[in-house]
Amino acid sequence: AQARYASLRDLPALTKCGTTISLHMNAGLMADLPSLSGSGADGVGLFRTELQFLVRNKMPRRAELAGLYARVMDAAKGKRVAFRTLDIGSDKVLPYMKPNDEPNPAMGWRAIRVGLDKPGVLRMQIQALLRAANGRPLTLMFPFITEFSEFQQARSHVLREVHRERSLGHVMPASLEIGAMLETPSLAFAPKAFFELTDFVSIGGNDLKQFFFAADRENERVRRRYDVLNLSFLDFIGQIVARCAETGTPLSFCGEDAGRPVEALALAALGLRSLSMRPASIGPVKALLRRVDLGQVRAVIDAARARGDASLRPALMDWLATQTD
Ligand code: PEP
Ligand code: MG
Repeated sequence: AQARYASLRDLPALTKCGTTISLHMNAGLMADLPSLSGSGADGVGLFRTELQFLVRNKMPRRAELAGLYARVMDAAKGKRVAFRTLDIGSDKVLPYMKPNDEPNPAMGWRAIRVGLDKPGVLRMQIQALLRAANGRPLTLMFPFITEFSEFQQARSHVLREVHRERSLGHVMPASLEIGAMLETPSLAFAPKAFFELTDFVSIGGNDLKQFFFAADRENERVRRRYDVLNLSFLDFIGQIVARCAETGTPLSFCGEDAGRPVEALALAALGLRSLSMRPASIGPVKALLRRVDLGQVRAVIDAARARGDASLRPALMDWLATQTD
C-alpha cells in the first residue's frame, strides 16, 4: 500500500467528478517539515505552535521563536504554512506557567482567551512571526474563537504589531492572511460581518465535535460514543459550508477526522475543498478521493438523512463496497 501511495504523491486529489480537494498536513515541530515533500501535501494547514512551548522548561524568547518560524518557512519552500497562535490550557499545560485550578479546563481559560486577557505572549509571538516572514507571505490563525469580538480583538493585536514592527524598520510580509479556527458551535452563528472580515475559517474538528456532542475528547468512556458521521453533525458542517460560501470565505477542516478516508470523503461531499491531516493520512485520503464521484456520495447522504439514519457510516460503507477502481 505504501508504494501505491508513493505513486500518488505528485498527483492531485482529483475526484471522478472533477473536483480537486487540497490536502495539507498538520505539524508542530521542525522535525515534521520533511514530511511536507514526502507526503506531497499542498502546505501546512495547521502548525500547532504550542508544541514548541511544551517541549521546553521555560518560556521561549522572541528571537528563538523568530528563528524557528523562519526555518519552518524555509523548509516549506514557499508552500503555505498556517501558524496557529498559542493554544494552551485545557489538555495543553505549560510546565512553567502557574496551573489554573479549573473544574472544566476544556471549557475554561484556554487558547485565545489567555491570549486576549494576557496579551504579552501573543504579541511576542506575532512579532516573531512577522520577523520570521521577513517579506514572505504570512498566514496566521487564532485558536478557539467563539465570537466575532474575540476575532476583532485578536486581529487588532496583529495589526498593531504590524504597525509597530514597520515603524521599527522591519520588512513586512508580502501578504498577510488572518484566520479563525471554528472550534465551538457558537462561531458558526456569528454575524455575517465576521465571515466577511476573516480571511479564512479552519474548522478544528476535534474540539468542535467535543462541544457539539458535549463529550469530552479526553474521556475514553464517552469520546467514541458519537460518530463524526452522525447526520446531525454533518448537517452542522453543511451549515458552516453554506455560511462561508455566502461571503466567499475560504474554509478548511483540520482535526483528526480529516485524515480518516471515509470521513474525509463525507467532508468533501459536504463542500469542504481543503483538508489538513497528519502526513501519513494524505496518501490514503487521496487514494479514496480519486476513486469517487462526490455527487454520488451526496446522494448517499441525502438518502441516509431521508431515512433518519443516525450515522452515515453504514450507508457510506455499503456504497463504497460497490465501487470498483
Ligand atoms: C481541533 O480542535 O480540531 C484542532 C485541530 O486543534 P487541537 O487538536 O490542537 O485542539
Ligand atoms: Mg482545538
